[in-house]
Amino acid sequence: MATAIWVLNDQLHQAQAALASHGPGEARVVVVEAEAVLRQRPHLQKQILFWSAQRHFAAELKQAGWQVDQLEAPTHAEALIPWLKQHEISRLLVMAPPDRPIRQAIDRLAQHSDWPCELEWIDNNQFLWTAEEFSRWAGSKKQLRMEFFYREGRKRFNVLMDGDQPQGGQWNFDQDNRKPPKKGLEGPAPLWFEPDAITTAVIEKLQTLAERYELPGDSEPFCWGVTQHQAQQVLEHFIATRLAGFGPYQDAMVSGQPTLWHSLISPYINLGLLQPLAVIRQLEQAGSAQQVPLASLEGVIRQLLGWREFTHGLYHHFGENYSHSNALEAVVPLPQFLHELGGSGMDCVDTVLSELNERGYAHHIQRLMVLTNLGLMAGWNPQAFTSWFQAQFVDAHHWVMQTNVLGMGLWADAGRLGSKPYAASGRYINKMSTYCKGCRFDPTKRSGPEACPFNVLYWDFMARHQERFRSHPRMALMIRQLDRIDASELEAIRSTARGLEWAQPPAA
Ligand code: SF4
Repeated sequence: MATAIWVLNDQLHQAQAALASHGPGEARVVVVEAEAVLRQRPHLQKQILFWSAQRHFAAELKQAGWQVDQLEAPTHAEALIPWLKQHEISRLLVMAPPDRPIRQAIDRLAQHSDWPCELEWIDNNQFLWTAEEFSRWAGSKKQLRMEFFYREGRKRFNVLMDGDQPQGGQWNFDQDNRKPPKKGLEGPAPLWFEPDAITTAVIEKLQTLAERYELPGDSEPFCWGVTQHQAQQVLEHFIATRLAGFGPYQDAMVSGQPTLWHSLISPYINLGLLQPLAVIRQLEQAGSAQQVPLASLEGVIRQLLGWREFTHGLYHHFGENYSHSNALEAVVPLPQFLHELGGSGMDCVDTVLSELNERGYAHHIQRLMVLTNLGLMAGWNPQAFTSWFQAQFVDAHHWVMQTNVLGMGLWADAGRLGSKPYAASGRYINKMSTYCKGCRFDPTKRSGPEACPFNVLYWDFMARHQERFRSHPRMALMIRQLDRIDASELEAIRSTARGLEWAQPPAA
Protein backbone atom coordinates (compact mmCIF):
# COMPACT_ATOMS: atom_id res chain seq x y z
CA MET A 1 0.00 0.00 0.00
CA ALA A 2 1.37 3.38 -0.95
CA THR A 3 0.95 7.15 -0.91
CA ALA A 4 0.60 9.27 -4.03
CA ILE A 5 0.36 12.98 -4.78
CA TRP A 6 -1.96 14.33 -7.44
CA VAL A 7 -0.62 17.66 -8.76
CA LEU A 8 -3.34 19.87 -10.24
CA ASN A 9 -2.52 22.09 -13.17
CA ASP A 10 -2.46 25.36 -11.22
CA GLN A 11 0.05 24.02 -8.65
CA LEU A 12 3.17 23.78 -10.76
CA HIS A 13 6.00 24.37 -8.32
CA GLN A 14 8.06 22.04 -6.23
CA ALA A 15 7.45 23.90 -2.98
CA GLN A 16 3.68 23.42 -3.24
CA ALA A 17 2.43 21.98 0.01
CA ALA A 18 1.57 18.43 -1.13
CA LEU A 19 4.97 17.88 -2.79
CA ALA A 20 6.76 19.57 0.11
CA SER A 21 5.21 17.05 2.50
CA HIS A 22 7.18 14.18 0.91
CA GLY A 23 10.46 13.64 -0.89
CA PRO A 24 11.12 11.88 -4.20
CA GLY A 25 10.94 8.14 -3.56
CA GLU A 26 8.42 8.54 -0.76
CA ALA A 27 5.35 8.99 -3.00
CA ARG A 28 4.38 8.60 -6.65
CA VAL A 29 3.17 11.71 -8.42
CA VAL A 30 0.35 11.79 -10.91
CA VAL A 31 -0.82 14.47 -13.34
CA VAL A 32 -3.94 14.12 -15.48
CA GLU A 33 -5.09 15.46 -18.85
CA ALA A 34 -8.82 14.78 -18.94
CA GLU A 35 -10.63 15.62 -22.15
CA ALA A 36 -13.74 16.41 -20.10
CA VAL A 37 -12.34 19.89 -19.32
CA LEU A 38 -12.82 20.76 -22.99
CA ARG A 39 -16.60 20.67 -22.53
CA GLN A 40 -16.26 24.14 -21.01
CA ARG A 41 -14.89 25.28 -24.40
CA PRO A 42 -11.64 26.88 -23.19
CA HIS A 43 -9.72 29.13 -25.57
CA LEU A 44 -7.08 27.10 -27.39
CA GLN A 45 -4.23 29.31 -26.16
CA LYS A 46 -5.38 28.77 -22.58
CA GLN A 47 -5.64 25.01 -22.85
CA ILE A 48 -2.31 24.71 -24.67
CA LEU A 49 -0.69 26.74 -21.89
CA PHE A 50 -2.31 24.67 -19.12
CA TRP A 51 -1.46 21.25 -20.56
CA SER A 52 1.97 22.18 -21.86
CA ALA A 53 2.99 23.79 -18.55
CA GLN A 54 1.77 20.66 -16.74
CA ARG A 55 3.74 18.35 -19.05
CA HIS A 56 6.87 20.47 -18.59
CA PHE A 57 6.43 20.40 -14.84
CA ALA A 58 6.05 16.62 -14.88
CA ALA A 59 9.37 16.44 -16.77
CA GLU A 60 11.02 18.70 -14.17
CA LEU A 61 9.76 16.52 -11.34
CA LYS A 62 11.16 13.42 -13.05
CA GLN A 63 14.52 15.14 -13.36
CA ALA A 64 14.37 15.91 -9.66
CA GLY A 65 13.97 12.19 -8.94
CA TRP A 66 10.18 11.88 -8.57
CA GLN A 67 8.34 8.95 -10.08
CA VAL A 68 5.69 10.68 -12.16
CA ASP A 69 2.81 9.18 -14.13
CA GLN A 70 1.14 11.31 -16.80
CA LEU A 71 -2.37 10.09 -17.49
CA GLU A 72 -4.57 10.99 -20.47
CA ALA A 73 -8.21 9.88 -20.57
CA PRO A 74 -11.71 11.13 -21.40
CA THR A 75 -12.47 11.83 -17.70
CA HIS A 76 -10.57 12.10 -14.43
CA ALA A 77 -12.33 8.99 -13.12
CA GLU A 78 -11.25 6.95 -16.13
CA ALA A 79 -7.68 8.16 -15.67
CA LEU A 80 -7.30 7.87 -11.93
CA ILE A 81 -9.32 4.92 -10.66
CA PRO A 82 -7.49 2.20 -12.66
CA TRP A 83 -4.17 3.86 -11.86
CA LEU A 84 -4.88 3.98 -8.12
CA LYS A 85 -5.82 0.30 -8.18
CA GLN A 86 -2.85 -0.72 -10.30
CA HIS A 87 -0.37 0.90 -7.93
CA GLU A 88 -2.30 -0.07 -4.78
CA ILE A 89 -2.45 3.54 -3.62
CA SER A 90 -4.05 3.77 -0.19
CA ARG A 91 -3.64 7.52 0.36
CA LEU A 92 -3.91 10.24 -2.29
CA LEU A 93 -2.70 13.70 -1.28
CA VAL A 94 -3.97 16.78 -3.11
CA MET A 95 -3.13 20.39 -2.34
CA ALA A 96 -6.48 22.17 -2.02
CA PRO A 97 -7.16 24.15 -5.20
CA PRO A 98 -8.40 27.72 -4.80
CA ASP A 99 -11.27 27.00 -7.22
CA ARG A 100 -14.31 25.70 -5.33
CA PRO A 101 -15.86 23.72 -8.23
CA ILE A 102 -12.61 21.81 -8.74
CA ARG A 103 -12.43 20.83 -5.09
CA GLN A 104 -16.07 19.78 -5.15
CA ALA A 105 -15.53 17.73 -8.30
CA ILE A 106 -12.60 15.93 -6.67
CA ASP A 107 -14.66 15.26 -3.54
CA ARG A 108 -17.39 13.79 -5.75
CA LEU A 109 -14.82 11.68 -7.57
CA ALA A 110 -13.63 10.23 -4.26
CA GLN A 111 -17.21 9.14 -3.52
CA HIS A 112 -17.32 7.12 -6.75
CA SER A 113 -18.28 3.53 -5.97
CA ASP A 114 -14.98 2.25 -7.45
CA TRP A 115 -12.72 4.80 -5.76
CA PRO A 116 -10.21 2.69 -3.85
CA CYS A 117 -8.30 4.98 -1.45
CA GLU A 118 -8.36 7.78 1.08
CA LEU A 119 -8.31 11.35 -0.27
CA GLU A 120 -6.37 13.79 1.89
CA TRP A 121 -6.47 17.56 1.37
CA ILE A 122 -3.34 19.60 2.10
CA ASP A 123 -3.70 23.36 2.74
CA ASN A 124 -2.81 25.54 -0.24
CA ASN A 125 0.38 27.60 0.18
CA GLN A 126 0.21 29.67 -3.02
CA PHE A 127 -1.29 32.81 -1.50
CA LEU A 128 0.10 35.24 1.05
CA TRP A 129 -3.13 35.32 3.03
CA THR A 130 -4.96 32.10 3.85
CA ALA A 131 -8.75 32.15 3.66
CA GLU A 132 -8.84 32.05 7.50
CA GLU A 133 -6.41 34.97 7.86
CA PHE A 134 -8.46 36.98 5.39
CA SER A 135 -11.69 36.27 7.25
CA ARG A 136 -10.04 37.34 10.50
CA TRP A 137 -9.07 40.63 8.84
CA ALA A 138 -12.57 41.03 7.40
CA GLY A 139 -14.07 40.33 10.84
CA SER A 140 -17.30 42.24 11.16
CA LYS A 141 -16.26 45.18 8.96
CA LYS A 142 -19.27 46.67 7.20
CA GLN A 143 -17.38 47.56 4.04
CA LEU A 144 -14.39 45.55 2.84
CA ARG A 145 -12.14 47.92 0.92
CA MET A 146 -9.08 46.79 -0.98
CA GLU A 147 -7.15 49.91 0.00
CA PHE A 148 -7.22 49.06 3.73
CA PHE A 149 -6.48 45.39 3.14
CA TYR A 150 -3.55 46.38 0.93
CA ARG A 151 -2.11 48.63 3.65
CA GLU A 152 -2.30 45.70 6.09
CA GLY A 153 -0.38 43.61 3.54
CA ARG A 154 2.28 46.28 3.08
CA LYS A 155 2.83 46.36 6.85
CA ARG A 156 2.55 42.62 7.42
CA PHE A 157 5.09 41.72 4.71
CA ASN A 158 7.14 44.91 5.11
CA VAL A 159 6.87 45.95 1.46
CA LEU A 160 7.69 49.51 0.36
CA MET A 161 7.78 50.66 3.97
CA ASP A 162 9.98 53.14 5.87
CA GLY A 163 9.51 51.84 9.38
CA ASP A 164 5.75 51.98 9.94
CA GLN A 165 5.17 54.57 7.18
CA PRO A 166 4.70 53.96 3.44
CA GLN A 167 7.62 54.90 1.23
CA GLY A 168 7.08 58.28 -0.42
CA GLY A 169 4.66 59.32 2.32
CA GLN A 170 1.53 57.88 0.69
CA TRP A 171 0.09 54.42 0.15
CA ASN A 172 -1.30 54.87 -3.32
CA PHE A 173 -0.13 56.75 -6.40
CA ASP A 174 -3.04 55.81 -8.64
CA GLN A 175 -3.80 59.42 -9.52
CA ASP A 176 -0.42 59.64 -11.32
CA ASN A 177 -1.18 56.53 -13.37
CA ARG A 178 -4.08 57.47 -15.60
CA LYS A 179 -2.54 59.12 -18.62
CA PRO A 180 -4.38 58.89 -21.94
CA PRO A 181 -2.24 57.56 -24.82
CA LYS A 182 -0.22 60.21 -26.62
CA LYS A 183 0.12 60.10 -30.40
CA GLY A 184 2.24 57.18 -31.64
CA LEU A 185 2.50 55.60 -28.16
CA GLU A 186 4.32 52.27 -28.37
CA GLY A 187 5.21 49.95 -25.53
CA PRO A 188 8.37 47.80 -25.36
CA ALA A 189 8.28 44.52 -27.32
CA PRO A 190 7.03 41.64 -25.13
CA LEU A 191 9.07 38.49 -24.55
CA TRP A 192 7.53 35.53 -26.35
CA PHE A 193 8.80 31.98 -26.88
CA GLU A 194 8.92 29.45 -29.71
CA PRO A 195 7.02 26.23 -28.92
CA ASP A 196 9.33 23.28 -28.15
CA ALA A 197 8.57 19.60 -28.91
CA ILE A 198 6.37 19.20 -25.82
CA THR A 199 4.28 22.27 -26.63
CA THR A 200 4.05 21.28 -30.29
CA ALA A 201 2.64 17.90 -29.28
CA VAL A 202 0.01 19.62 -27.10
CA ILE A 203 -0.90 22.00 -29.93
CA GLU A 204 -1.36 19.03 -32.29
CA LYS A 205 -3.49 17.16 -29.76
CA LEU A 206 -5.74 20.14 -29.20
CA GLN A 207 -6.00 20.92 -32.89
CA THR A 208 -7.44 17.44 -33.43
CA LEU A 209 -10.00 18.04 -30.64
CA ALA A 210 -10.82 21.66 -31.47
CA GLU A 211 -13.63 20.98 -33.91
CA ARG A 212 -15.38 18.34 -31.78
CA TYR A 213 -15.46 20.62 -28.73
CA GLU A 214 -15.81 23.88 -30.71
CA LEU A 215 -12.81 25.40 -28.97
CA PRO A 216 -12.50 29.15 -29.58
CA GLY A 217 -9.38 31.13 -30.47
CA ASP A 218 -6.27 30.61 -32.56
CA SER A 219 -3.96 27.77 -31.59
CA GLU A 220 -0.99 29.32 -33.40
CA PRO A 221 1.20 31.22 -33.11
CA PHE A 222 1.53 30.07 -29.50
CA CYS A 223 4.15 32.16 -27.70
CA TRP A 224 3.47 31.90 -23.95
CA GLY A 225 6.15 30.61 -21.60
CA VAL A 226 5.43 27.11 -20.26
CA THR A 227 8.13 26.55 -17.63
CA GLN A 228 9.22 28.18 -14.38
CA HIS A 229 12.41 29.27 -16.13
CA GLN A 230 10.51 31.01 -18.93
CA ALA A 231 8.09 32.59 -16.46
CA GLN A 232 11.09 33.95 -14.55
CA GLN A 233 12.52 35.31 -17.82
CA VAL A 234 9.23 37.15 -18.48
CA LEU A 235 9.40 38.67 -14.99
CA GLU A 236 13.00 39.77 -15.56
CA HIS A 237 12.13 41.16 -18.99
CA PHE A 238 9.30 43.13 -17.43
CA ILE A 239 11.64 44.53 -14.78
CA ALA A 240 14.28 45.44 -17.36
CA THR A 241 12.03 46.96 -20.04
CA ARG A 242 8.62 47.86 -18.60
CA LEU A 243 8.58 48.36 -14.86
CA ALA A 244 9.68 51.99 -14.95
CA GLY A 245 7.01 52.84 -17.53
CA PHE A 246 4.27 50.66 -16.05
CA GLY A 247 2.51 53.40 -14.14
CA PRO A 248 1.61 56.29 -16.45
CA TYR A 249 -0.06 54.34 -19.26
CA GLN A 250 -1.52 51.37 -17.37
CA ASP A 251 -5.06 52.52 -18.27
CA ALA A 252 -4.28 53.37 -21.92
CA MET A 253 -5.61 51.31 -24.84
CA VAL A 254 -3.87 51.52 -28.22
CA SER A 255 -4.77 49.76 -31.47
CA GLY A 256 -1.98 47.39 -32.52
CA GLN A 257 -0.42 47.53 -29.02
CA PRO A 258 -2.09 44.77 -27.04
CA THR A 259 0.49 44.55 -24.26
CA LEU A 260 1.95 48.09 -23.77
CA TRP A 261 3.74 48.13 -20.38
CA HIS A 262 1.69 45.31 -18.83
CA SER A 263 3.72 42.68 -17.03
CA LEU A 264 2.17 39.55 -18.64
CA ILE A 265 3.03 37.55 -15.51
CA SER A 266 -0.53 36.85 -14.27
CA PRO A 267 -0.92 33.52 -16.15
CA TYR A 268 2.33 32.28 -14.63
CA ILE A 269 1.55 33.32 -11.05
CA ASN A 270 -1.90 31.77 -11.31
CA LEU A 271 -0.43 28.45 -12.49
CA GLY A 272 2.15 28.40 -9.71
CA LEU A 273 5.10 28.95 -12.07
CA LEU A 274 5.95 32.13 -10.15
CA GLN A 275 5.49 32.65 -6.42
CA PRO A 276 3.79 35.92 -5.43
CA LEU A 277 6.00 36.91 -2.48
CA ALA A 278 9.20 36.12 -4.39
CA VAL A 279 7.92 38.27 -7.29
CA ILE A 280 7.08 41.15 -4.94
CA ARG A 281 10.51 40.98 -3.27
CA GLN A 282 12.25 40.91 -6.65
CA LEU A 283 10.23 43.87 -7.89
CA GLU A 284 10.97 45.84 -4.75
CA GLN A 285 14.71 45.15 -4.93
CA ALA A 286 14.92 45.93 -8.65
CA GLY A 287 12.80 49.03 -8.20
CA SER A 288 15.20 50.38 -5.63
CA ALA A 289 18.35 49.37 -7.59
CA GLN A 290 17.01 50.85 -10.86
CA GLN A 291 15.46 53.90 -9.17
CA VAL A 292 12.09 53.09 -10.71
CA PRO A 293 9.51 55.86 -10.14
CA LEU A 294 7.59 54.95 -7.00
CA ALA A 295 4.25 55.43 -8.79
CA SER A 296 5.12 52.63 -11.23
CA LEU A 297 6.61 50.29 -8.62
CA GLU A 298 3.76 50.83 -6.16
CA GLY A 299 1.21 50.38 -8.97
CA VAL A 300 2.40 46.90 -9.89
CA ILE A 301 2.92 45.82 -6.27
CA ARG A 302 -0.65 46.92 -5.47
CA GLN A 303 -1.91 44.56 -8.18
CA LEU A 304 -0.16 41.60 -6.51
CA LEU A 305 -0.13 42.32 -2.80
CA GLY A 306 -3.43 44.19 -2.91
CA TRP A 307 -5.88 43.23 -5.61
CA ARG A 308 -4.84 39.61 -6.23
CA GLU A 309 -4.83 38.67 -2.56
CA PHE A 310 -7.98 40.70 -1.87
CA THR A 311 -10.05 39.05 -4.59
CA HIS A 312 -8.82 35.59 -3.57
CA GLY A 313 -9.71 36.31 0.06
CA LEU A 314 -13.14 37.65 -0.87
CA TYR A 315 -13.87 34.65 -3.09
CA HIS A 316 -13.61 32.37 -0.06
CA HIS A 317 -15.07 34.84 2.41
CA PHE A 318 -18.23 35.42 0.34
CA GLY A 319 -18.75 31.69 -0.17
CA GLU A 320 -20.63 29.68 -2.73
CA ASN A 321 -23.81 31.74 -3.05
CA TYR A 322 -21.83 34.68 -4.38
CA SER A 323 -21.60 32.94 -7.78
CA HIS A 324 -25.40 33.13 -8.13
CA SER A 325 -25.60 36.91 -7.55
CA ASN A 326 -27.57 38.91 -10.09
CA ALA A 327 -28.45 42.17 -8.32
CA LEU A 328 -29.44 43.99 -11.53
CA GLU A 329 -31.55 41.05 -12.74
CA ALA A 330 -29.57 40.96 -15.97
CA VAL A 331 -30.97 38.31 -18.30
CA VAL A 332 -29.77 39.25 -21.80
CA PRO A 333 -28.08 36.25 -23.49
CA LEU A 334 -24.47 36.63 -24.64
CA PRO A 335 -24.27 37.96 -28.19
CA GLN A 336 -22.89 35.93 -31.06
CA PHE A 337 -19.93 38.29 -31.47
CA LEU A 338 -18.58 37.16 -28.09
CA HIS A 339 -18.75 33.51 -29.13
CA GLU A 340 -17.14 34.31 -32.48
CA LEU A 341 -14.57 36.69 -30.94
CA GLY A 342 -15.40 39.44 -33.40
CA GLY A 343 -17.99 40.98 -35.66
CA SER A 344 -19.66 43.50 -33.33
CA GLY A 345 -19.04 46.44 -35.66
CA MET A 346 -17.65 48.48 -32.73
CA ASP A 347 -13.94 49.13 -33.21
CA CYS A 348 -13.10 49.03 -29.51
CA VAL A 349 -14.88 45.72 -28.95
CA ASP A 350 -13.62 44.11 -32.15
CA THR A 351 -10.02 45.17 -31.46
CA VAL A 352 -10.11 43.64 -27.99
CA LEU A 353 -11.83 40.47 -29.24
CA SER A 354 -9.36 40.09 -32.09
CA GLU A 355 -6.41 40.37 -29.67
CA LEU A 356 -8.15 37.91 -27.37
CA ASN A 357 -8.67 35.52 -30.27
CA GLU A 358 -4.96 35.63 -31.06
CA ARG A 359 -3.43 35.25 -27.58
CA GLY A 360 -6.17 34.53 -25.03
CA TYR A 361 -5.24 37.82 -23.41
CA ALA A 362 -6.43 41.41 -23.00
CA HIS A 363 -5.14 43.80 -20.36
CA HIS A 364 -7.20 44.84 -17.35
CA ILE A 365 -8.60 48.10 -18.73
CA GLN A 366 -9.69 46.43 -21.96
CA ARG A 367 -11.47 43.83 -19.83
CA LEU A 368 -13.05 46.34 -17.43
CA MET A 369 -13.83 49.38 -19.53
CA VAL A 370 -14.64 47.71 -22.84
CA LEU A 371 -15.89 44.17 -22.23
CA THR A 372 -17.53 44.16 -18.80
CA ASN A 373 -18.60 47.79 -19.16
CA LEU A 374 -20.56 46.82 -22.27
CA GLY A 375 -21.94 43.67 -20.63
CA LEU A 376 -23.02 45.62 -17.52
CA MET A 377 -24.87 48.27 -19.52
CA ALA A 378 -26.34 45.82 -22.06
CA GLY A 379 -27.59 43.60 -19.22
CA TRP A 380 -25.81 40.39 -20.22
CA ASN A 381 -26.43 37.59 -17.79
CA PRO A 382 -23.62 37.71 -15.21
CA GLN A 383 -23.26 33.93 -14.79
CA ALA A 384 -22.98 33.35 -18.56
CA PHE A 385 -20.59 36.27 -19.03
CA THR A 386 -18.38 35.22 -16.10
CA SER A 387 -18.15 31.68 -17.51
CA TRP A 388 -17.25 33.15 -20.90
CA PHE A 389 -14.42 35.15 -19.28
CA GLN A 390 -13.19 32.09 -17.45
CA ALA A 391 -12.99 30.13 -20.68
CA GLN A 392 -11.30 32.81 -22.77
CA PHE A 393 -8.37 34.19 -20.78
CA VAL A 394 -5.01 32.50 -20.21
CA ASP A 395 -4.91 33.77 -16.61
CA ALA A 396 -8.54 32.97 -15.80
CA HIS A 397 -9.62 30.65 -13.00
CA HIS A 398 -12.90 30.41 -11.12
CA TRP A 399 -11.57 32.29 -8.08
CA VAL A 400 -10.23 35.07 -10.32
CA MET A 401 -13.30 35.66 -12.45
CA GLN A 402 -16.07 35.47 -9.84
CA THR A 403 -14.85 38.58 -8.07
CA ASN A 404 -13.35 40.41 -11.04
CA VAL A 405 -16.16 39.91 -13.56
CA LEU A 406 -19.29 39.17 -11.58
CA GLY A 407 -18.41 41.60 -8.77
CA MET A 408 -16.14 44.34 -10.06
CA GLY A 409 -17.20 44.35 -13.72
CA LEU A 410 -20.92 43.58 -13.60
CA TRP A 411 -21.94 44.76 -10.11
CA ALA A 412 -24.00 41.59 -9.83
CA ASP A 413 -23.12 41.48 -6.12
CA ALA A 414 -24.83 44.84 -5.41
CA GLY A 415 -21.55 46.48 -4.46
CA ARG A 416 -20.12 43.98 -1.99
CA LEU A 417 -16.82 44.30 -3.87
CA GLY A 418 -16.86 47.61 -5.75
CA SER A 419 -18.90 50.45 -4.35
CA LYS A 420 -20.36 51.62 -7.67
CA PRO A 421 -20.98 50.04 -11.07
CA TYR A 422 -18.17 50.62 -13.58
CA ALA A 423 -20.51 52.01 -16.24
CA ALA A 424 -18.85 54.44 -18.63
CA SER A 425 -19.89 56.07 -21.87
CA GLY A 426 -17.89 56.20 -25.10
CA ARG A 427 -16.32 59.40 -23.81
CA TYR A 428 -14.06 57.41 -21.52
CA ILE A 429 -12.98 55.05 -24.32
CA ASN A 430 -12.46 57.97 -26.68
CA LYS A 431 -10.21 59.67 -24.11
CA MET A 432 -8.22 56.60 -23.04
CA SER A 433 -7.83 54.78 -26.37
CA THR A 434 -7.13 55.21 -30.04
CA TYR A 435 -10.08 53.00 -31.03
CA CYS A 436 -12.71 55.62 -31.85
CA LYS A 437 -10.77 57.18 -34.74
CA GLY A 438 -11.50 54.27 -37.06
CA CYS A 439 -14.96 53.42 -35.77
CA ARG A 440 -18.12 53.72 -37.79
CA PHE A 441 -19.91 55.05 -34.70
CA ASP A 442 -19.59 58.60 -33.42
CA PRO A 443 -18.40 58.87 -29.80
CA THR A 444 -20.05 62.30 -29.44
CA LYS A 445 -23.57 61.10 -30.35
CA ARG A 446 -26.00 59.36 -28.01
CA SER A 447 -28.98 58.61 -30.21
CA GLY A 448 -29.60 57.64 -33.81
CA PRO A 449 -27.89 55.13 -36.10
CA GLU A 450 -24.42 56.72 -35.81
CA ALA A 451 -24.48 57.01 -32.03
CA CYS A 452 -21.78 55.16 -30.12
CA PRO A 453 -23.51 52.16 -28.47
CA PHE A 454 -21.59 52.84 -25.25
CA ASN A 455 -23.26 56.28 -25.04
CA VAL A 456 -26.67 54.91 -25.90
CA LEU A 457 -26.45 52.10 -23.36
CA TYR A 458 -24.93 54.32 -20.68
CA TRP A 459 -28.02 56.55 -20.54
CA ASP A 460 -30.36 53.64 -21.07
CA PHE A 461 -28.69 51.87 -18.12
CA MET A 462 -29.06 54.97 -15.93
CA ALA A 463 -32.72 55.32 -16.95
CA ARG A 464 -33.45 51.63 -16.27
CA HIS A 465 -31.83 51.70 -12.83
CA GLN A 466 -32.49 55.28 -11.77
CA GLU A 467 -34.61 54.41 -8.75
CA ARG A 468 -31.96 52.04 -7.40
CA PHE A 469 -29.13 54.55 -7.81
CA ARG A 470 -30.88 57.85 -7.04
CA SER A 471 -29.75 57.80 -3.42
CA HIS A 472 -26.44 56.00 -4.03
CA PRO A 473 -23.68 58.38 -2.88
CA ARG A 474 -21.45 57.73 -5.91
CA MET A 475 -24.22 57.45 -8.52
CA ALA A 476 -26.58 60.24 -7.57
CA LEU A 477 -24.66 62.76 -9.71
CA MET A 478 -25.19 60.63 -12.84
CA ILE A 479 -28.89 60.31 -12.09
CA ARG A 480 -29.15 64.09 -11.73
CA GLN A 481 -27.49 64.40 -15.17
CA LEU A 482 -30.04 61.94 -16.50
CA ASP A 483 -32.83 64.11 -15.07
CA ARG A 484 -31.54 67.02 -17.13
CA ILE A 485 -31.97 65.18 -20.45
CA ASP A 486 -35.30 66.30 -21.93
CA ALA A 487 -37.99 63.70 -22.39
CA SER A 488 -37.92 63.58 -26.21
CA GLU A 489 -34.17 63.14 -26.31
CA LEU A 490 -34.27 60.44 -23.66
CA GLU A 491 -36.93 58.65 -25.68
CA ALA A 492 -34.67 58.89 -28.78
CA ILE A 493 -31.79 57.38 -26.77
CA ARG A 494 -33.94 54.57 -25.41
CA SER A 495 -35.40 53.86 -28.81
CA THR A 496 -31.83 53.59 -30.21
CA ALA A 497 -31.02 51.20 -27.36
CA ARG A 498 -34.03 49.04 -28.27
CA GLY A 499 -32.53 48.74 -31.77
CA LEU A 500 -29.38 47.04 -30.42
CA GLU A 501 -30.57 43.46 -30.71
CA TRP A 502 -27.65 42.13 -28.63
CA ALA A 503 -28.84 44.22 -25.67
CA GLN A 504 -32.43 42.94 -25.50
CA PRO A 505 -33.81 40.52 -22.92
CA PRO A 506 -35.39 37.36 -24.35
CA ALA A 507 -39.07 37.71 -25.24
CA ALA A 508 -41.27 36.81 -22.29
FE1 SF4 B 1 -16.18 52.03 -29.19
FE2 SF4 B 1 -18.00 53.98 -29.41
FE3 SF4 B 1 -15.44 54.52 -29.76
FE4 SF4 B 1 -16.76 53.08 -31.57
S1 SF4 B 1 -17.14 55.19 -31.04
S2 SF4 B 1 -14.71 52.67 -30.75
S3 SF4 B 1 -18.15 51.91 -30.27
S4 SF4 B 1 -16.38 53.81 -27.86
